Amino acid sequence: MPNVYNWQIGREMSYPHEERHPEWQFAFVFNPNRCIGCQTCTMACKSTWTFSKGEELMWWNNVESKPFGGYPQHWDAKLLAMLEQANPGKQVWDARHTEAEKKPFGTFDGMTIFEAAEQKPRPDGPQAALGYLPSDEEWTAPNIHEDTSTGGLFKKDGQFGGSTQLPEHKVWFFHLARICNHCTYPGCLASCPRNAIYKRPEDGIVLIDQSRCRGYRKCVEGCPYKKAMYRPSTRTSEKCIGCFPRIEGKDKTISPTGAPAETRCMAACVGKIRLQGLVKIDEQGAWAKDPKNPLYYLIRERQVALPLYPQFGTEPNGFYIPPRWVPRDYLTQMFGPGVKQAIEQYSCPDRELLAVLQLFRAQQQIIFRFDIEKGPKVAEIEVTMPDGQSKTQEIFNDTVIGFNKLDEEVVRITIEEPTFERPKEAHLNSI
Ligand code: SF4
Ligand code: SF4
Repeated sequence: MPNVYNWQIGREMSYPHEERHPEWQFAFVFNPNRCIGCQTCTMACKSTWTFSKGEELMWWNNVESKPFGGYPQHWDAKLLAMLEQANPGKQVWDARHTEAEKKPFGTFDGMTIFEAAEQKPRPDGPQAALGYLPSDEEWTAPNIHEDTSTGGLFKKDGQFGGSTQLPEHKVWFFHLARICNHCTYPGCLASCPRNAIYKRPEDGIVLIDQSRCRGYRKCVEGCPYKKAMYRPSTRTSEKCIGCFPRIEGKDKTISPTGAPAETRCMAACVGKIRLQGLVKIDEQGAWAKDPKNPLYYLIRERQVALPLYPQFGTEPNGFYIPPRWVPRDYLTQMFGPGVKQAIEQYSCPDRELLAVLQLFRAQQQIIFRFDIEKGPKVAEIEVTMPDGQSKTQEIFNDTVIGFNKLDEEVVRITIEEPTFERPKEAHLNSI
């Protein structure tokens, strides 16, 4: 197999196809610290794309409660166990040597799904990526174990014991919102024997060509995140299409000038946990340095948002700000060795980071550039840091301004929420 470079695991790895990169890459940051599990995103997606016959159990966007929930059930625990079986005791990171561009989290010394598949040919031939086909039952009940917590000690009276203090809670769960990660090295694409799956050169969105697909379900098996799904009524596989008409700027109700818009799930998010965008890819296939792009800033510049299971090796383009109350060893196996630093920054954001965090769900158009206008100091608060120490955070009423692809100003938000006084004339309440 050819070798490709994966910055998330800090090394080259084998992949069934030659290295090739799009001009821009669809990417997003989700902040589980803010997700309330309302499923508005889930329904926005379903009512747009998967409401037809044969798609009843198909949820391109889902929100599962960790640690017990999953769609399909136990998708991550099952694959982690398969990788551990393929490479016992060696699925580990070496986080001692880091380089901002090439290996920001150090190096993953274990096996990716592509490397593990090479080591483990099956009776029916080698897989392109280590994976499995979930059972029909595992695809049902997408929200099973919703809001079910773990940890803590049961006292004699049946009440949960343990701490409810930060930095970590002993009794915990969190909502993990998920869509297709439009991976740089997709497991679905690698696994398709019909070459029916492709990555768009203009934005890196991964699509299944329905006219080529024959429903072998190898993509369902090979996607580690289980975001390729089978539709029995057409006998083909389907997956998230990144709402590409919106990304292409086709929705003139959102941008009359034709600038790209966020996907439906992002635009509908009630908790303001989502920020989606496009990052520029340079000629070598790396992220072009662009610290004024909010996604580049959060992911590459500040490393406050981390990839989901980077050790799988697909270089997913979905990133998460780890929930700060969750035990660190759980988060580290899920988001890699960057967890401690990410939580430290998020717990007490500096002036610039706090301003950029305001851009989440501030606008339906994709923000390509931000600017900050400085304002006066308005508060000082005491924050409990992850090491238990307290730190003083200074808050300034800065204004963050977002610009679309055409460099038009599309949003302007202050840190301090403004108050408005109603005019004196009568206002009748309506029901
Ligand atoms: S998340 Fe799965 S379906 Fe989406 S691009 Fe990656 S491997 Fe393919
Ligand atoms: S709409 Fe936003 S807050 Fe609600 S479940 Fe989805 S990601 Fe979470």
